[in-house]
Amino acid sequence: MEIVPNPNRSSSEGLVTSTNASSSATATASSPGSSSPSPSRYESQKRRDWNTFGQYLKNHRPPLSLTRCSGAHVLEFLRYLDQFGKTKVHTQMCPFFGHPNPPAPCPCPLRQAWGSLDALIGRLRAAYEENGGKPETNPFGARAVRLYLREVREMQAKARGISYEKKKRKKPPPQPHGGGAGPSDHPHSPPPATGATA
Ligand SMILES: [Zn+2]
Repeated sequence: MEIVPNPNRSSSEGLVTSTNASSSATATASSPGSSSPSPSRYESQKRRDWNTFGQYLKNHRPPLSLTRCSGAHVLEFLRYLDQFGKTKVHTQMCPFFGHPNPPAPCPCPLRQAWGSLDALIGRLRAAYEENGGKPETNPFGARAVRLYLREVREMQAKARGISYEKKKRKKPPPQPHGGGAGPSDHPHSPPPATGATA
């Protein structure tokens, strides 16, 4: 009596789950990601302005340290920048005084436009505090600087015949923007077909 081992015991030979991960087209994982370290334009401009001001302090005679810098020094700095200005500011003697688009050249000086100075001061003021300066002693926030900027603004507005007044944002008039129709007003379903064709 031979004991025939049952050959039909199909031993469960490991259910070969065919892990044929046919990763045929998964090679697109090379997305660079948006981790570009380039700072915003505002940030880089701010850094540049801060460096310019630091350079100005360094070249100042007598030497001037940031901690001893006052609003008066900031004004000095702004006036110094005027020599690099590109904005014609007419004197009262100029026939084009108050003329926004002079038809001819004139010998009036070029200045920094008020808008540029205003933005510059805003950036330097922020940079000062980001670099450890205390808000209470921020020379860029000094009253003298504010007054100076206001003065420049008024003078340039007159001389250049332009207004810096921000356009007051009027509340947009209530537009009769056809909002009548209900949100989910279903179109009328077609009338039931009466009279079924025989
Ligand atoms: Zn002029």
